[in-house]
Amino acid sequence: MTTATATQTPALDGFETYYGVPVCFIGEDGLPTALGHHEPRRFLAAVNRYAREVLGWMDYRHGAPHLTVADLLADVRRDWMIVTDHCNTDHSHLDPGEDCGECEEIKSHKWYITTAREDHSASFPVMLLG
Ligand SMILES: [Zn+2]
Repeated sequence: MTTATATQTPALDGFETYYGVPVCFIGEDGLPTALGHHEPRRFLAAVNRYAREVLGWMDYRHGAPHLTVADLLADVRRDWMIVTDHCNTDHSHLDPGEDCGECEEIKSHKWYITTAREDHSASFPVMLLG
């Protein structure tokens, strides 16, 4: 299994590194996200450790104890993201002075990442669970 860590992978506040995997649960739904592409079981181990140490859960299956390791591995995704400070929404429909909800969301965070194409000049690899 190969691992990918693009040179432009940013150092983002809030990520904790376990077993060599920088991981954080991001967004309103707390999507488990790792910087870089890693061996899936190592990623899951880091997600579980984050759930225990940062969130105080027994493990990631908090609230869904019926899930098996195979179930979780089936939900592991590799993707690419960029750090952004603006949304890609067309603002022409907004009234003068009206705020764009997505822009406000982006401004309210220290950092904001969004999916991007692998060949984007600033994209970096991520792993997601779910
Ligand atoms: Zn906007």
